[in-house]
Amino acid sequence: MKHFNTRDGALFAEGVALENIAATYGTPTFVYSRAALEEAHAGYAAALAGRDTMLCYAVKSNSNLAILNVFARLGTGFDIVSGGELARVVAAGGDPGRVVFSGVGKTRDEMRAALEHGIYCFNVESEPELYRLAEVAGSLGKRAPIALRVNPDVDPKTHPYISTGLKCNKFGVPISGAHALYLAAAKLPQLEIRGIACHIGSQLLDPAPVAEAAAKVVALAEALNRDGIELRHLDLGGGLGIRYDDEEVPATRDYLAPLLKVLAGRKERLLLEPGRSLVGNAGVLLSRVEYLKRGEDRNFAIIDAAMNDLARPALYDAWHRIAEVRPRGSVERYDVVGPVCESGDFLGRARDLALGQEDLVAIFSAGAYGMTMSSNYNTRARAAEVMVDGGQCHLIRERERISDLYAGEHLLP
Ligand SMILES: *Cc1c(COP(=O)(O)O)cnc(C)c1O
Repeated sequence: MKHFNTRDGALFAEGVALENIAATYGTPTFVYSRAALEEAHAGYAAALAGRDTMLCYAVKSNSNLAILNVFARLGTGFDIVSGGELARVVAAGGDPGRVVFSGVGKTRDEMRAALEHGIYCFNVESEPELYRLAEVAGSLGKRAPIALRVNPDVDPKTHPYISTGLKCNKFGVPISGAHALYLAAAKLPQLEIRGIACHIGSQLLDPAPVAEAAAKVVALAEALNRDGIELRHLDLGGGLGIRYDDEEVPATRDYLAPLLKVLAGRKERLLLEPGRSLVGNAGVLLSRVEYLKRGEDRNFAIIDAAMNDLARPALYDAWHRIAEVRPRGSVERYDVVGPVCESGDFLGRARDLALGQEDLVAIFSAGAYGMTMSSNYNTRARAAEVMVDGGQCHLIRERERISDLYAGEHLLP
């Protein structure tokens, strides 16, 4: 996280003081570093140099148009999970011809929009979806490019909510039944088979399960080849984790090495769908202390960011580093909590911080699954987002106005 540094006793994002960002844009505000985004991308580019690959940034991890645009300029494709995300990619100047569409519940409207934009591939997650897609493509006089998302039944050893490649998950089709489904798809003239897709989970720190999944995908590809089905690509999904606390996170190159070894000699293009590892540590959530509340049992730092801004602690019991923007006074132990009326509304528990009333704090590793999972619970306006680029700071999303929140609501006549 070298792009978020202490200078003269206070935290900076690249060349911009977080104190100045708070003064200009208010709090809570998500602050992203363009250099950090580009560095994370460069890690993939270097690890994959010399191999035919397409990186498809997973839009759901952070879908701000400016972030998508930074990746589009770097030439990435995009992994989307809804028609809304497709609209964002297009609005951000992304190339629909480099979009893969994942998700278990694609509607007819979403399929039509994706076909009309000419996306690169649908990652089909069930048999009924396959037939619906053929029907929708037929009605438009088009052929839908497809991969089947296979579920390889490997355990990624991560949080159960973010593990997706086990038999018990709702995602994909069991790899054992995939071959038969490919044969069925090959008979449908409205479909064009392009590849195999697989994504086993998120916040993965061990490369072994991904390599194990890749070996199963390769075995399926070989079996399909024997039946005359040629594939353009193999899509091994996203999932590389980031350091939130003291996790041992492999370098991108080391994480991908076992996977690339399994794929050595294969002629298909490799697709990857990283999200968290491209944006997670490129963002912090900047927030101000409203009150320091001292209790008999514990002290609370009540800040102006809450579970509606960053849901991960409440949702997954996730740990995010929290630091003072400018430490002052003596260190005390606080539960850092938001104003939302839920006991689950905490950002961090038992944190040792040197804080004064109305000081600023930065919640780290908030670039992925932060803003995109935010809500308006308690009629709280969503945070602003800014991107720092060297010494410049750009507002990339305005803070919501309260009146926006009920603009579409109507009283009874
Ligand atoms: C969420 C998701 C990703 C991205 O996962 P990360 O852990 O953020 O890299 C990629 N592919 C699919 C299908 C997903 O659902």
